[in-house]
Amino acid sequence: MNRISCLICTFLLFALVRTGPAQSNPQRSSSPGALAGLSQQAAAAEHDWEKKFQDGIVPDNLRESMRRLSARPHHVGSAYDKQNAGWILAQFEKWGFDAHIETFQILFPTPKERVLEMIAPTSFRAKLQEPALAGDPTSNQVSEQLPTYNAYSIDGDVTAPLVYVNFGNREDYEQLERLGVSVKGTIVIARYGEGWRGIKPKVAAEHGAIGCIIYSDPNQDGYFKGLDFPEGGWRPKFGVQRGSVMDTDYPGDPLTPGIGATADAKRLPIKDAKTITRIPVLPISYGDALPLLSALGGPVAGEGWRGNLPITYKIGPGPTKVHLKTTSNWDLKPVNDVIAEMHGSDFPDQWVLRGNHHDAWVNGAEDPVSGMAAVLEEARMLGQLHKLGWNPKRTIIYCAWDGEEPGLLGSVEWVETHMDDLKKHAVAYINSDSNERGFFHASGSHDLEKFINDVIRDIPDPEKNMSVWQRAHLLRISKAKDVEDRTEIRKRIDLHIGALGDGSDYTAFLDHAGIPALNIGFDGEGDGNQYHSVYDDFYWFSRFIDPDFAYERALAQTGGTAVMRLGDSEIIPFEYGGEAETIAKYVSDLEKLLKDKQDEIAERNLELKEGVFTAVADPRKTSIPPVVEAVPLFMNFAPLKNGVESIKASAERYQTAFAKWQAEGCPVPRLLVNQLNQDLMQVQRAFLTEQGLPERPWFKNQIYAPGAYTGYGAKPIAAVREYMDAKRWNDADAQIPMVAGVMQRIAESIQKAATDLDQVIQQH
Ligand SMILES: [Zn+2]
Repeated sequence: MNRISCLICTFLLFALVRTGPAQSNPQRSSSPGALAGLSQQAAAAEHDWEKKFQDGIVPDNLRESMRRLSARPHHVGSAYDKQNAGWILAQFEKWGFDAHIETFQILFPTPKERVLEMIAPTSFRAKLQEPALAGDPTSNQVSEQLPTYNAYSIDGDVTAPLVYVNFGNREDYEQLERLGVSVKGTIVIARYGEGWRGIKPKVAAEHGAIGCIIYSDPNQDGYFKGLDFPEGGWRPKFGVQRGSVMDTDYPGDPLTPGIGATADAKRLPIKDAKTITRIPVLPISYGDALPLLSALGGPVAGEGWRGNLPITYKIGPGPTKVHLKTTSNWDLKPVNDVIAEMHGSDFPDQWVLRGNHHDAWVNGAEDPVSGMAAVLEEARMLGQLHKLGWNPKRTIIYCAWDGEEPGLLGSVEWVETHMDDLKKHAVAYINSDSNERGFFHASGSHDLEKFINDVIRDIPDPEKNMSVWQRAHLLRISKAKDVEDRTEIRKRIDLHIGALGDGSDYTAFLDHAGIPALNIGFDGEGDGNQYHSVYDDFYWFSRFIDPDFAYERALAQTGGTAVMRLGDSEIIPFEYGGEAETIAKYVSDLEKLLKDKQDEIAERNLELKEGVFTAVADPRKTSIPPVVEAVPLFMNFAPLKNGVESIKASAERYQTAFAKWQAEGCPVPRLLVNQLNQDLMQVQRAFLTEQGLPERPWFKNQIYAPGAYTGYGAKPIAAVREYMDAKRWNDADAQIPMVAGVMQRIAESIQKAATDLDQVIQQH
């Protein structure tokens, strides 16, 4: 997953706040010892088991799992990937889980030919190789390493002048237009960062480029950030970020959209697969990029466009001319998901799911093994508790996904295959991925916001004498953007969690199947980044990222406690007040976006009329004024606001009943509570529509979705928002009644749960 977006989640998305009763240092939202969804009697027992669980998590186990799983390259289809799946299966079985491997056949291209050479003004051939480093014992496993490439780049052989496009986002092309630079018929070079890599070739192709190179600038993750590897942890001169550039119309196997990629599934011909890029793409190191960028002519790049290479950044096109060739073996490969169940005692048909992927681009100590090792240590300890007499009320399912890196393949195919059962049985899915020293972060559906806050109030920070919650809360105060923001953070009972995009295996659960989901982890203090490089290995991780495996332990404690609490609660502890306020904020964000765009366009049109652009432009340089644009008309947000009011009203009714039940704290009759829990499980399903998002029908959740032009980044209420971003105002307006209808159904489903809960309360 994308570490940069994780940091953005942590530091920026949390700015969105919901206020609660004023408290200068809120530690706990309910009385001491109480647990949401558990009667007082059950809560005491739960606390005891959770304490045993947390005490039993052993850093050395985490270290040894990581050493084992990252010992050799283990990408999809490799020998060690298969061996890892088998080893994980054996562990689950040893710990008493009912486990099996489920295999899918997916399209996974691997590199056949890769050439990048400069043919003018001088000649240079790119290395396209990460050198083995002395002292790093796995960096020399060359015969098993996947070469540096971008998976799902179309095959291509192109020669053309080069253009530097900064991060290669849509806004960067608007800048190029103003400079009079066209990328039509050229090869573009973009730097990694500011958005998901797959967007770069997509936008380049939309502007007529015929090839795309993506390089890692030291400004993003190299010597600008800290000492580079092996002296420090940051990306060295010839370090390369591999990665998928599969388009985001739908994740999973490109040949079987919407259905499981089982052996006999009906497959699209490769030429009809919509998610393969339109132009060839290749990732390179800054060592390989430097000669190409140094030779560029044309206008000097503006300040926001400059990285940290020791050159004057220029844009081109030319005189740098490059030849780019990349072809792949387009084979079907197996992905091996490991699925391990511990059956529930009271509600076996309600499933709590927990997962992480096990495949990597190369050795993948941080991505994914830092998460996978924690998940395994949780499962080991839950097995141990089970032997001591702990029985979860609900069925717990641990999942070790294969094929996440190429495009969430293992989790998407599994969800698509088991869709009907999941819609009936799934309570929630908790995901993790890369983990490092630092601060807790969570993103997810907001019905789980209060829940995860309560969990982390009970987890000690391993390096500070305070809870993980307290440390994350204080971080937010320190990062607050202004007084108002800071005041809100202090007043708010819970840390706000960000929305999920599609950076890891939660995507199919939340966006396709309407299952409440969380993505959890720690970050911010790992001293380095080798994302998707051969150097993301045990040697590097254990020196620079979490040497004591202390935050590995904290992740296992957090994930396992969350699983136990969801598995043991009598009433599933969803909370809808925060959800309602978050949706209200999404609607007001849309309104604000429209107002900002109206103001911005009106102002620009006025400046065009005044002649501002021509007056301030240097007449000796090319500068083309922007074109006059029609100011967008007002949109009718009233149906969305009414939808929000309905959700707020039903959330309030449910939360009032829930607080009453919680205060009385009596155990509840199983039959009644079962109906309530069944109805609670259907609330997030009401976020879905069968037809999905207007141009991405696989994405069925109408509140939570990744952006078509942000990839990993979230775009809530995407049916409206994406058209607004594309300046298709009428189309955006036309989607509002549909989303408002979804909001009314969400409100009704919460009402239904509130009615059930009233009955539960009357019965005792
Ligand atoms: Zn990952």
